[in-house]
Amino acid sequence: AAWERDIRRSAAPRRPEGFSVLVTGAAGFVGFHCSLALKQRGDGVLGLDNFNAYYDPTLKRDRVALLAARGVVVLDADINDAALLARLFAAVPFSHVLHLAAQAGVRYAAQNPQSYIASNVAGLVSVFEAAAKRADPPPAVVWASSSSVYGLNTDAPFSELHRTDRPASLYAATKKAGEAIAHTYNHIYGLSITGLRFFTVYGPWGRPDMAYFSFTRRILAGKPITLFRMPDGAAVLRDFTYIDDVVRGCLGALDTAEKSTGAAGGAGKKKAPAQLRVYNLGNTSPVPVTKMVSLLEDLLGRKAKKNVVTLPQNGDVPFTHANVSLAERDFGYRPTTDLATGLGKFVQWYVKYYGVHSAATATARTEEELTASA
Ligand code: NAD
Repeated sequence: AAWERDIRRSAAPRRPEGFSVLVTGAAGFVGFHCSLALKQRGDGVLGLDNFNAYYDPTLKRDRVALLAARGVVVLDADINDAALLARLFAAVPFSHVLHLAAQAGVRYAAQNPQSYIASNVAGLVSVFEAAAKRADPPPAVVWASSSSVYGLNTDAPFSELHRTDRPASLYAATKKAGEAIAHTYNHIYGLSITGLRFFTVYGPWGRPDMAYFSFTRRILAGKPITLFRMPDGAAVLRDFTYIDDVVRGCLGALDTAEKSTGAAGGAGKKKAPAQLRVYNLGNTSPVPVTKMVSLLEDLLGRKAKKNVVTLPQNGDVPFTHANVSLAERDFGYRPTTDLATGLGKFVQWYVKYYGVHSAATATARTEEELTASA
């Protein structure tokens, strides 16, 4: 009963017409920022995350400490725990689910391919099941797909109509599978579903496994960084997208999500089909990874020791470049932060969080310090 009281309080909106949102992956980079933004504007947020050790769990705990200070409860649970999800949906009348929990990154598949299937396919089904089976009305679901579904496309910028049948990594394949599964849950169960294809998201409280983050750590430590060239020698370009822009896109997608209609039920009455959407959330201006490094060098005031290697195929795609006109049309999405500005904010956060001279494993100690760097 105490458990139910706590989660109900966390999920209760503070403004009239406010949402009640279940955020999965709330201890993660994007989930943390979206939870903060939703809470800030008066929506109710309940987070859920399994705090896995894919990257430093201390960073996840510190994000969650900040969320807790703002009244957001994050449950330590796995999206594959169907009994727990059923209990949650029975206890709280969520209006929306923002599903961001996933196994991210493309290269980790070489070590643990099954983790992608467990979280991104089985876990997605688990979340859609719980949402669809919740008695009237089922929540609307907004979930994270990925720009990686564009795979080996070379005709940029990518619009949502480009082909997505050539995933270059297992990660991309599971996101593509997720989009197919979304179609099924929309079709059979009348679930309102919006998929968001994020393009290389970066910023404060980011993911240590991503290049801009690990390069920063290594440059500060005087260690060499490895820059990849594609197997054909081509430079790698990424449509780096600043976290605040992505958060605005997620909130815009939630704000314009229609209600689920629920399963047809066989009463013979034809219902209007539930909403099914997919959007690019990118920055629309790809930058060579080498340029990202030179921006970091300027910000850090140090030169990187670079190894440039041509890699055997490892799941990376040569470039990403978003066309975001659909998201702009439907919810006014417009990226506003260029890479130099966004990296500047990241470096500022990084230096404060880790301390300039301390090791990369150091963590900020006090709640005050954490709050100061949010
Ligand atoms: P992240 O790894 O920081 O966050 C994901 C969170 O989900 C983690 O905290 C992890 O502990 C949790 N999680 C993983 N499996 C889980 C499970 N089975 N049960 C419960 N929790 C689980 O990653 P992120 O960068 O915040 O990404 C958020 C979403 O956006 C993911 O779906 C990711 O695939 C997608 N995405 C991210 C980017 C990017 O550049 N950051 C790009 C494209 C797509």
